[in-house]
Amino acid sequence: MLKNIKLILFDLDNTLFSFESYWTQATMNTFYRSNLTKQLPFDEFFSHYRYYDHHFWELHYQGHISLDEVRQQRLIHALKHFDQKIGIEEADIYFRDFFNNLIHLLEPNEEINEYLRELKKTYRVGIITNGKASEQRSKLVKLNLYDVFTEGEIFISEELGFEKPQREAFHVPLSYYGLKSEQTLYIGDSWNNDVVGAINAGMSAVWINPAGNNPPSEHKPLFITESIIKFLTSILKNSRLLL
Ligand SMILES: [Mg+2]
Repeated sequence: MLKNIKLILFDLDNTLFSFESYWTQATMNTFYRSNLTKQLPFDEFFSHYRYYDHHFWELHYQGHISLDEVRQQRLIHALKHFDQKIGIEEADIYFRDFFNNLIHLLEPNEEINEYLRELKKTYRVGIITNGKASEQRSKLVKLNLYDVFTEGEIFISEELGFEKPQREAFHVPLSYYGLKSEQTLYIGDSWNNDVVGAINAGMSAVWINPAGNNPPSEHKPLFITESIIKFLTSILKNSRLLL
């Protein structure tokens, strides 16, 4: 099934590590440390905060607001429910505390890293991730992913000048490998950014779908799997037979 595939590219957040669970933990830690929030009821704050997080991310995906604005506005709006008015500078400080805590919490998953090193014996590999270069690199360092991927194999949207699901975000990295989209498999958890984006760029795709959601459109990924570990073990088991 992977006969013509020479290159396997990965998303980072929620694909190579569980960003969601670290996000929740770091959000809780920041809440209890900050003078802006620690006196509030956590559950009520968190439900507003999550609501606005989704709401402003949606506006970001539609191209209406920047990533910095998502981070500022979700807090500013959540606090309005508690009659607290804050400015963007305070929201920026809150986000920085949150991000530093998230990086502090991150631990490498050596099982995944070992599978990736094994995969690298058969395929070219790389990462295409949306985000800020310095933030994504801090995550890669803490996850020991530089033991697997070289700097040249890591493509971050801020430096690429294109974000997934734009075709260029998938096509620009291909020139580094000298390979074609048809020879490439892309693996990620976001239906729109990763699966639809990669398929529209001419690649095959794997959807990491731990919640067992139904595909939201007619696009056809090559595999749907509940975790990266399951996918990597099955591909490693089969790859020698398929060469
Ligand atoms: Mg992701």
